[in-house]
Amino acid sequence: MSDSRTASAGTVLVLGGTTEGRAAAAALAGRDGVRVVSSLAGAVRAPSLPAGEVRVGGFGGAGGLAAWLRAGGVAAVLDATHPFASGMTANAAAACAATGIPLVVLRRPGWTAGPEDRWHRVRSVAAAAGAVAGLLPGPDGRVLLTTGRGGLECFAQLDAAFWIRSVDPPDPPLPSRHTLLLDRGPFGLDAERAVFDRVRPDVLVTKDSGGEATAPKLTVARERGVPVVMVDRPPLPDGVRSEPTVDAAIDRLLGSRPGRRPR
Ligand code: NAP
Repeated sequence: MSDSRTASAGTVLVLGGTTEGRAAAAALAGRDGVRVVSSLAGAVRAPSLPAGEVRVGGFGGAGGLAAWLRAGGVAAVLDATHPFASGMTANAAAACAATGIPLVVLRRPGWTAGPEDRWHRVRSVAAAAGAVAGLLPGPDGRVLLTTGRGGLECFAQLDAAFWIRSVDPPDPPLPSRHTLLLDRGPFGLDAERAVFDRVRPDVLVTKDSGGEATAPKLTVARERGVPVVMVDRPPLPDGVRSEPTVDAAIDRLLGSRPGRRPR
């Protein structure tokens, strides 16, 4: 059974942890009749907080999220998680399908290589480690690793010097020769040039996060002829399409109607 209720009058759950999530929460918080609740995973020790209400921590899988949505009378979900947060996105798709609550997924576009870029696209962080091994000049090789805290065990056996950038310290196992660069984006062009001056990488490893905030490293890699190992995004769940901008996502969200009334 369908109804005509729209998200313009009700609670919107924003799955966040991203710049876009904060922008969407700020935009929604100013709308009449909209109560916005942002959800953060709790993975970062001192997160940047969005406007409006905030809850922190997992829901307990798709079933836990579905129960949370029903209990809170949520009118719509905006999944503004990072393009690599595929577990959360899968759970959101399943929970919204189970409850009939509209879901809008916001995904900033990925990056595109230009003619002077030397990118090697791979499908996973594990595959990135294999690609790095093939690009190193030898045991003196230097790697700038910007894939975040997860999956770094894949690089632990590589005989090279690593500079690992992440917001919080990553968990072991890590490559035996590594230096942590604990920092949080956005990273400007001059700052990235300074990082490259210091690290002098033979290869840069990154996920295809897209967006402006972390793109300058790709410009510097191009300037200096440094090859880039680019980890492809995981696919969206079947039948889920995404909006590329905050405005487009909010437009669809506020015009969206539940397919059927939540039980
Ligand atoms: P993930 O692997 O897709 O999610 C793992 C589990 O963490 C989810 O099943 C869920 O637990 C919980 N979770 C994830 N995002 C959540 C949220 N916004 N609110 C409540 N629970 C959440 O996610 P991830 O890659 O670890 O990312 C975690 C968070 O960091 C996300 O909010 C994402 O936007 C942000 N982030 C991720 C990356 C990245 O590279 N992956 C980069 C920047 C920011 P339950 O199953 O218990 O509900």
